[in-house]
Amino acid sequence: MSNFSRREFLTRLGVGALVVGGVSALAACGKSGGGEGAAACTDPGGGSKAQRDALHYVDKSPNAEKNCTNCQLYLAAEGGAPCGKCTLFASTPVSPTGYCDTWTKKA
Ligand code: SF4
Repeated sequence: MSNFSRREFLTRLGVGALVVGGVSALAACGKSGGGEGAAACTDPGGGSKAQRDALHYVDKSPNAEKNCTNCQLYLAAEGGAPCGKCTLFASTPVSPTGYCDTWTKKA
């Protein structure tokens, strides 16, 4: 039988949960598609998330010539905020360095 108490077991369980949570948070940081210099414009979830995912949005464009700032659908960040918005995902921030399949050259 085990040598440690219920209290010790619960303490260890709590520490384990913190470790797992920390590792998950670190892994999530790498999923934004952001690279050096890209603002991490975290998707808050909700209705726009599925659309953003479907259009393969990333915080760092793979194409130096195409990004959100030179896209017709980009709404510039206001008040020094690092993230702008996209008319496609009205409630979801997008990075100025971002990109998605719907990129449309600004007129
Ligand atoms: S359509 Fe795509 S590339 Fe254009 S602003 Fe929106 S997220 Fe950026």
